Amino acid sequence: SMPVQEYLTQAHEQFPEKVAIHFLGKDVTYNELYDSAMKFANYLQKLGIQKGDRVAIMLPNGPQAVISFYGILYAGGVVVMTNPLYTEREIAYQMNDSGARLIVTLDLLYPRVAKVLKETKLENVVVTAIKDYLPFPKNIIYPFIQKRQTGLSVKVEHRGINHQFLEIMKIASTDVKKPDFDFEHDLALLQYTGGTTGSPKGVMLTHKNLISNATMCDAWLYKCKKGEETIMGIIPLFHVYGLTTVLILSVMQGNRMVLLPKFDPETALKTINKQKPTLFPGAPTLYIGLMNHPDIAKYDLSSIEACLSGSAPLPAEVQEKFEKITGGKLVEGYGLTETSPVSHSNLVWGERTKGSIGYPYPDTDSKIFLPGTTEEVPHGEIGEIAIKGPQVMQGYWNRPEDTAATIVDGWLLTGDLGYMDEGGHFFIVDRKKDMIIAGGFNIYPREIEEVLYEHEAVQECVVAGIPDPYRGETVKAYIVLKEGYTVTEEEFDKYCREHLASFKVPRIYEFRKELPKTAVGKILRRSLVDEERAKQS
Ligand code: ATP
Repeated sequence: SMPVQEYLTQAHEQFPEKVAIHFLGKDVTYNELYDSAMKFANYLQKLGIQKGDRVAIMLPNGPQAVISFYGILYAGGVVVMTNPLYTEREIAYQMNDSGARLIVTLDLLYPRVAKVLKETKLENVVVTAIKDYLPFPKNIIYPFIQKRQTGLSVKVEHRGINHQFLEIMKIASTDVKKPDFDFEHDLALLQYTGGTTGSPKGVMLTHKNLISNATMCDAWLYKCKKGEETIMGIIPLFHVYGLTTVLILSVMQGNRMVLLPKFDPETALKTINKQKPTLFPGAPTLYIGLMNHPDIAKYDLSSIEACLSGSAPLPAEVQEKFEKITGGKLVEGYGLTETSPVSHSNLVWGERTKGSIGYPYPDTDSKIFLPGTTEEVPHGEIGEIAIKGPQVMQGYWNRPEDTAATIVDGWLLTGDLGYMDEGGHFFIVDRKKDMIIAGGFNIYPREIEEVLYEHEAVQECVVAGIPDPYRGETVKAYIVLKEGYTVTEEEFDKYCREHLASFKVPRIYEFRKELPKTAVGKILRRSLVDEERAKQS
């Protein structure tokens, strides 16, 4: 029960010379990471950051994101992770909602921050560049970074309040006034929800929430050897999923994490081939992206021992294929920002049930309630998944009503519909908000997507209920076909009719080159439905 940052102190004492981060060819040892984080904390304290102050990080994965994260915590601050893809409006909203006093960001993203600075309470901006931590001429090995940096001006001149990251690393000392921490109640992180279903809400997570969840992951991965594993960090650290299962877990175990600033299948395959990660948390779209790369056979992925797939349903065939390719385990888990985030998972080494999200994590209790209540439904029936455990958030920041509606009698009501089988395995049916009501029938998009995924030509798909004057809603499927395949709407219709009751069969198909996704690779059903609404009105 130590605050999050104390695990870095511990790792640095135990393994000072071990590599903590590998980033695009550059190694950062635990010693260097600890020193840098302390310097960052020292600098923040000099700028007046105090216990409980919110400090935002808007960075892609890389050493700076890790240094800033621990630096803010050592200084006593609360981290606010900000999605680098946010528009100006979204940045302004989050800065104002959280009341952040300082933001750390990338030179490339700075123009967006600069435009909204005056509307926020931000007093200081720290700016860094990906190349600050690259050991080689950036255009040789990673052309995608070069491309994104063309035409870039790193000049920083707003109100004289900007600070260069590398400059801080040069001038700051490692003297930090250690604030007192209340493990149980002090916030470590204000994490905004993904915004898949509505406007993002600030989720209050304490040191206890995050450490409990990382400890549960650690227990689930009991075969791993502390200090000897390599964790693949492709999923963003600015979402709590990556933060807990890559960053906090890796530092807790004294392991090495391999970070990539964005998901590019080819770079990812090359990196796995060379860096030999053993653990690889991800999302279905990520594994699908790797699996379908035309040159996959050229790369050696056999170092991978365990992958946790969360965020969205994992199609069974993706699981099977990916396990065949790597020889490792790919297990489906489940969770949400509000639970730091993991609450359920299949066993990594042991029995698992097809289509199930597995069991509640250690120390975690889960039940199925009549939606919106705390009344249990009869065994095996569909209801709302509820969770109780040390990883459950304190509430939503400045939203007492949302909090009261979401945490009832100590139970977190997830908004996800599911059921539990005889063996205590949990199954997700769908989100309450995604359920389609067409002609009076309740239809769960996920069931239809699963059928479509079993079709050999389907690379990716999503099913949504779009407004329909007669049926209320009608079922529409958006499909990305695998390269080299052509399948007509009529053929899909025939196929679906063979596998689904007729009221569930999609009435409309649309073929696309790609589907809109959130930063963690979750398909954005909501934006497709919005598009449809705009078209109709
Ligand atoms: P918002 O809550 O703002 O709408 P979001 O859904 O992206 O955004 P997250 O906390 O990132 O917020 O995602 C949690 C949700 O992801 C869960 O409530 C659930 O619907 C979905 N999810 C997570 N894991 C799985 C899984 N294995 N299978 C199906 N759905 C999953």
